[in-house]
Order: sequence, then structure tokens, then C-alpha cells
Amino acid sequence: DKTLHIVGGGMAGSEAAWQAAQMGVDVVIHEMRPKVETFAHRTGDFAEMVCSNSFRSDDDEQNAVGLLHWEMRAANGLIMTTADRHKLPAGGALAVDRDPFAADVTAQLMALPNVSVEYGEITELPIDGNWIFATGPLTSPALGEAIARETGTDRLAFFDAIAPIVYAESIDMDVAWLQSRYDKGETEEEQKAYLNCPMTKDQYEAFIDALLAADKTEFHEGETATYFDGCLPIEVMAERGRETLRFGPMKPIGLTNAHKPDEKAYAVVQLRRDNALGTLYNIVGFQTKMKYGAQTEVFKMIPGLEDASFARLGGIHRNTFMNSPTLLDNQMRLKSRPNLRFAGQVTGVEGYVESSAMGLLAGRLAAAEILGKDLPVVPQDTAMGALIHHITGGAEAKTFQPMNVNFGLFRPVDGLKGGRRGRKDRYKAYTDRAKVEWSDWLENFE
Ligand code: FAD
Repeated sequence: DKTLHIVGGGMAGSEAAWQAAQMGVDVVIHEMRPKVETFAHRTGDFAEMVCSNSFRSDDDEQNAVGLLHWEMRAANGLIMTTADRHKLPAGGALAVDRDPFAADVTAQLMALPNVSVEYGEITELPIDGNWIFATGPLTSPALGEAIARETGTDRLAFFDAIAPIVYAESIDMDVAWLQSRYDKGETEEEQKAYLNCPMTKDQYEAFIDALLAADKTEFHEGETATYFDGCLPIEVMAERGRETLRFGPMKPIGLTNAHKPDEKAYAVVQLRRDNALGTLYNIVGFQTKMKYGAQTEVFKMIPGLEDASFARLGGIHRNTFMNSPTLLDNQMRLKSRPNLRFAGQVTGVEGYVESSAMGLLAGRLAAAEILGKDLPVVPQDTAMGALIHHITGGAEAKTFQPMNVNFGLFRPVDGLKGGRRGRKDRYKAYTDRAKVEWSDWLENFE
């Protein structure tokens, strides 16, 4: 059977259906709404934006998400071309009128002769046929259980607990130093796997005060706030006692300040490498519900992070996502069941744009396979490629948490200056290189 079944008519599923149908494949979309609802969706339309109405920056030269817009437009992406038609004034951001946008996406898909819709919840992983699962952060509980049975329960998460991620280049290495606690590890690389930022008593006390006073976000209605041991928000730890963090993630033991070996730090903030490239570091144990503005203020109080740039800020949300680095191949197929692909937020990307982008790739890859067409792998130096490479292999599997697209995921361009001064040129070089490679890859479909 050459039909492509897509479960979920959200951002990723709608884009996947559009792409596969444009390539001439018959598509059936299985969508549970409006029969079965989620706590966030309000309508039965496809591609409903559940919260903000923004697709973020539209700058395709200096912003990685803007580059993703560009790449999706170049591939005739349904989400982007429809967003352009329903654009609202929003400075450099691409914001849209959400209800007409979703209605338009739905109408365009319904108008295709080779797309049909079956409304209802899918609760099992099918044995036969070609499938893309794009059921999103709010994958229905029954299907979530079915996925967990296939992958193992430790490979599917129902909440994310995202610690802030910092660009390595923005950390002040005159203050911070590389060392694993007690120099643990067989190799020198392992003994220096962590980056440490020291605090004096005064700095620690001021930091705790700032944490306690910071603005926090509440959980959405219907989103139960179940905190698991080992991933309490740092501000909740601070509320439990002023010393809790100093005996938890900020404990100073087993570490010697390489710049001031005689001074014992009162507390230490540790950062751990977040990708194979070594361009990103996450702040260990710093998952948080602080508002974004408060996070940047509070985290810049950490010595060594005064000028930090954040690839993403922390958060805790209801979010069903799989451990893609171990479960998916570089075509987004489940390794154990290659007739099943996954796409969108359930694969561990984060956001409307990233989810649609992964839907675009999954739709094209699935259709090519059904049509018996060989494709070269998605080029890694595109925004699409950087993302798919990160989730299917580049990210640290043990600490895998959802990721936004950002330039930290890109391989360096040779011969360019690092640091702040060179940043504008570097971003332009990344986006120039990506546009060429993405256009080349798209030629495979002509
Ligand atoms: P979705 O768009 O959620 O689509 C998944 C679809 O699958 C849904 O239509 C669902 O009904 C359907 N489905 C689920 N289970 C089944 C099943 N068993 N059978 C059939 N159909 C099923 N991102 C942003 O960029 N900006 C924001 O402001 C933002 N706010 C958010 C707020 C909340 C409360 C949540 C939960 C998420 C938010 N996100 C936000 C993330 C956002 O949901 C995703 O970025 C995006 O919608 C994910 O696209 P997707 O296609 O993977 O999932």
C-alpha cells in the first residue's frame, strides 16, 4: 500500500501532508480533534496555534529561526506561505491572525484531491503501512502509552525540564574553569567535562534573594504541576531553604578554582556540554519556571556569565517527547519499526516553526521512500539539517531535552573571527552557506 498515513493535523502533520501530497502521494490525515480534545486546543482546525500567535523572527540573515522560515518558503511550505497571507504588523517578527490562518491551512489541505481526513484518536502503533506520527506535546495518553511500550518508558517523557543553554563563546573563561567534580573520568576530556562558575558567600546570598523575588510563570490550566525528584525548579529548591542549592546542584565540593587555587568557593554553578560540537552548555540543575526576562537578569549574576548569550532559556512544561537521539534514524524513522516516522514536537524540537520544519522533512522523506526515490541526506549546514542532525544524533542522549533552532547547532564556518565582534559576519556566513546547500538539496525533487 502506497498511502501515507499521518497522525495529528497540527503544525508538523499539516506540513508533512502538504509536502507528500505535492509529491503525488495519497495521504490520510488522522486527527482526534474535535472528537477528542486537548487542554490547549480550542478548535477542530489543523495547525492551530495554541498560545502565542507568532512564528518569531523573520530575519533570514541574522536569526536561525528566520533562516528556517526562508528554507520552508523555498520548499513551498504550507505553514509559511499561509502565514505570509495572514501576517499582522509585528516589527521583525512573523505574527499572524491565528483563526483565519488555521482555517486557511485546513481548507488548502482539504482541497487537495489526494488528501483525506479521518477524524478520531489513534491509540496503537500500527504494524503495517507508511506512517508519520506528529501528535505533538499533548499526544493523547493512550497513544503515549503505546509509544512508551515500544520505546521503553525511560525513553518517552511527559514533561520537559529545560535548563538554560548558554553559547560557549559567551562564557568568561577568565572566571570559569573546566573540571569535573573530583576530576572524575578516564580521559582528560571527561575530567574536564564541566565548566564551573564560582560564587562567594555574598554573591550566593544575593543570588538566592534574586531567585526568590523573580517573576515566575504559572502552569497552564489543566497542566498538572507534578514535580519529579531530580527536576525541581531551582526557585522551588531555594524556597525550601537558603542552603538547599548549596547542598544540591550548586555544591562546591570536589572542585578547585583553576584561576584562584587557594580560594574555596562558597558555591559553584556547573555547566555541562550540550552538543557534540561543544558550542552549547546547559546550566546543570537549573530548570525553572521563572519568566524569561527574570531568567536573563538572575543568571547574569553568576560570575563568568555576566555577558552570557542564551541559546534557550529554561522552562518546565507538559510535553510528550521521545529520546530521539537513541530512537530515530537520520530519516526520522523509529529504528525498531522503520515503517513509522515521527515528526514535530514529539521528536524533541520545540516551537511552531521547528515542528513545522520537521514535518516538512518527514513528509518529503516519507514520500520519497514510497516513490522509491533515493535522496542524499539532509545537508547538515542548513537550519533544517542542523536541527534534524541535533535530534537524531548530535545531542547528548542522556540529558536530551527539547531544542529550539539556534546558531549553536551549526558547524563553524572556517576563517571567521570568533567572539562578539565577529558575530554578525558569522551569522551571515551561516545563513549564506545554508541557503546554497538547501537550494541544492531541493533540486533532488525537481
Ligand atoms: P500540535 O500542533 O500540537 O499537533 C498535534 C496534533 O495531534 C493535534 O492536532 C492533536 O489533536 C493531534 N493528536 C494528538 N494525539 C493524537 C492521537 N492519538 N490521534 C490523533 N490525533 C492526535 N510553541 C510556540 O512556538 N509558541 C508558543 O507560544 C507555544 N505555546 C505553547 C503552549 C502550550 C500550552 C503548549 C502545550 C505548547 C506550546 N507551544 C508553543 C508548543 C507548540 O505546541 C508546538 O510548537 C507546536 O504546536 C507543535 O506542533 P506539532 O505538530 O508537533 O503538535
